Amino acid sequence: MSQQIFAYIAHKNGKADDTALELLVAAKKIDSSASVTAIVAGPDAVCSEVAASYKEVWKIGIDAYPNAEVIRRALVKVLPKGAIVLAPHDTFGMDLCPGLSVKLDSAYLADAVGFEGIENGKLKVIRQEYSGMVSTHVLCDISGGAVITVRAGSFKPDEAAGAGGKVLDKTGDAGDLSETTRRFLEIVEAEAGDVDITKSEILVSVGRGIEDKDNLEMISDLAKAVGGDVSCSRPIVDAKWLEKARQVGTSGKTVKPKVYMALGISGSFQHMGGIKGNPFIVAVNKNAKAPIFQFADVGVVADILEFVPELTEKVSEMK
Ligand SMILES: Cc1cc2nc3c(=O)[nH]c(=O)nc-3n(C[C@H](O)[C@H](O)[C@H](O)COP(=O)(O)OP(=O)(O)OC[C@H]3O[C@@H](n4cnc5c(N)ncnc54)[C@H](O)[C@@H]3O)c2cc1C
Repeated sequence: MSQQIFAYIAHKNGKADDTALELLVAAKKIDSSASVTAIVAGPDAVCSEVAASYKEVWKIGIDAYPNAEVIRRALVKVLPKGAIVLAPHDTFGMDLCPGLSVKLDSAYLADAVGFEGIENGKLKVIRQEYSGMVSTHVLCDISGGAVITVRAGSFKPDEAAGAGGKVLDKTGDAGDLSETTRRFLEIVEAEAGDVDITKSEILVSVGRGIEDKDNLEMISDLAKAVGGDVSCSRPIVDAKWLEKARQVGTSGKTVKPKVYMALGISGSFQHMGGIKGNPFIVAVNKNAKAPIFQFADVGVVADILEFVPELTEKVSEMK
C-alpha cells in the first residue's frame, strides 16, 4: 500500500524555503508511489508557489510569525492517523517535531540525510554521527506513522517537478489558533558587517584548518583573485579572527552563492545548513574522509596552506 506523506513547508517573507522541493524528493525516496501533500501554515502566496510542484497543498491560514506551539496543535487536528510527516531539520523543525510525534503517537526520527526504502513496515533511514564521519542506518517503525526531520541539502531538488496542484484550505479544521502561551516579539536581524555575504555569487569560505589568524591573508588573496568574498565557519568567528557577519551556518548567515569554496572546513550540518540554492561546491581538506567531500562537486585532498597560494597564483596567471 502506498504511503501518505506530508511535507511541512518552511517559508520566510512570503517565499517558500529551498527545502520545500527537497522534501518532495525525500518523500518520493521513501515511497515512489506515495501521495505527497505539502502543508503550508502561512499565506496564499506560499501555497501557490508550492502548488507548482506538489499535487496537493493544505493551507492553514496563519498570518503571524510561525509559532511551533500553535502549528503543532493545528497539525494534530488536520493530519490523518498513521501519516508520515517530513519537516526541515532546522531550529523550527526541531521545536515543532518531537512534540508533534508525541501528540500523534507516532515514531520520531531527527536529521535524516537519506532513505533506502521500506522493509516489513520499517523505513531504512540514513543518519550521520560523529560530525558526519560515520553514516548509520536506522530502522524506523512507520506502522503507526512517523515524524521525521530532514537535513537541508541532503536531497537535490527536482526543479522540473511541475505538478500544478490544488490548494485546500484546512484552516477551519485546525481549531482555535489564537490561544498560545508563547508570543512572538520581534525578529532580531544579525549585524550587517562590511560585506553582505548573503548577496555574494562566489564565496571563499575558511574553517579551522587555516590554523592561524595570520594565514587568513592567503584566503583574502584567493577571494580577490576569483572575484569573491570571504566567509567562514563558526570557530573562526569564535576565535575573533573574522566578524560574525561572515559566518555561514545555522547560527550565522544563510548564503546562496553560485560557487562555494570550503577551505579547511569539515562540513558539519550546522555549517552546511547555511548553504542554500545548490551552489557548485569546491572543497579542499587534508582529510580524505572529511564529510565536506560528500557535498562537494570538486574535492581536493590537500593542505590548504600549500594549495591556496598555488591556486591564487594559477588563477592570477590565467587572468
Ligand atoms: C547550536 C550550534 C550552532 C552552530 N552553528 C554553526 C554555524 O552557524 N556555522 C558553523 O560553521 N558552525 C556552527 N556550529 C559549529 C559546528 O558544529 C562545527 O563545530 C563547525 O562548523 C566546525 O567548523 P570547521 O569545519 O571550521 O572546523 P572543524 O570541524 O574542526 O574542521 C576543520 C577541518 O579542517 C581540516 N584541516 C585541518 N588542517 C588543514 C589544512 N592545513 N589543510 C586542509 N584541511 C585542514 C580538517 O581535516 C577538518 O576537516 C554550531 C554548533 C552548534 C552546537
